[in-house]
Amino acid sequence: MLVALRSRRQIAPFTLHRPVSAAEALALRAEPGSSAFLAGGIDLIDWLKHGHPVDRVIRLDGIPGLTDIAGDATSLRIGAMATHAAIAASPLIRQVLPDLGALWLGVANPRVRFTGTIGGNVMAGKPDYDGLPALMALGAEADIAMGHPINIDGLGAGSLVSGFVVPEPARLRLFADRSLRPAVSVWLSLSEANGRVAALRVAVVMAHPKPVCVSLPVDLPVASLGAAAAAIADQVAGRLPEPMSDGRAGATYRRGMVRVLTRRILLRAGDSA
Ligand SMILES: Cc1cc2nc3c(=O)[nH]c(=O)nc-3n(C[C@H](O)[C@H](O)[C@H](O)COP(=O)(O)OP(=O)(O)OC[C@H]3O[C@@H](n4cnc5c(N)ncnc54)[C@H](O)[C@@H]3O)c2cc1C
Repeated sequence: MLVALRSRRQIAPFTLHRPVSAAEALALRAEPGSSAFLAGGIDLIDWLKHGHPVDRVIRLDGIPGLTDIAGDATSLRIGAMATHAAIAASPLIRQVLPDLGALWLGVANPRVRFTGTIGGNVMAGKPDYDGLPALMALGAEADIAMGHPINIDGLGAGSLVSGFVVPEPARLRLFADRSLRPAVSVWLSLSEANGRVAALRVAVVMAHPKPVCVSLPVDLPVASLGAAAAAIADQVAGRLPEPMSDGRAGATYRRGMVRVLTRRILLRAGDSA
């Protein structure tokens, strides 16, 4: 017996555009009516299927350079249309920021990694996605087409993001503990030079409506991270704004778990010194 299951969801009609430059894409976006940029389409097609109508869908895959991953040890630029798989496999990222490539192999599943892009991940604005907190922990800025680079957490819905720039990637270590999803996850970067940690940045996900980043100046040998882990984790948890309480976890639990996950990561980082 052959059984076929078809989605009954109807996508409202729209016109599809394939601009070949950022300027053309922005001009289309500025026309009257509603429009949306299309990258890998995972979230956007889902929204359309759920009945969000748009007049124009503007594909970004005809704009040159948006998939590029380029740079060196002093500055790494990841194009907004780079897929998760391309980030995980990039020889440049393996060289200048290997932790990012390794962690990105754990994002989603192979199908999503080969289709979904980092720009789409960030701009989807979902509170449980990993792109924004990872980039916040790395201190990245967003490159806006036809505009100035901006702080990554200041991205507005209408911007066309062309890429993300990570300063001094070769000095950064990146760690994540996602074991308590969907209550809370922690992304943590350490800026290291000459065997010492000079700064630490922690991005906390799913504990607030949007990811929240805490930066701490520190100055200690990497090998001492384990001994200092509990005190640093206390400071990080103490600096967080009040977490949410919802059906997944309470505010006190979330703050406590940020302390636990941060401490756990720092112990791991100290061990790997
Ligand atoms: C089964 C499954 C598991 C997943 N697991 C994870 C996970 O573990 N971690 C995680 O982080 N994510 C996860 N995801 C989410 C996935 O990473 C995102 O859906 C994907 O990255 C979105 O990228 P896209 O290119 O498909 O975006 P699209 O759907 O094309 O776009 C999403 C939104 O961003 C806008 N947009 C896209 N590109 C740009 C741009 N350059 N400038 C401005 N706006 C833009 C679009 O207009 C749209 O509003 C999962 C998804 C699925 C389906």
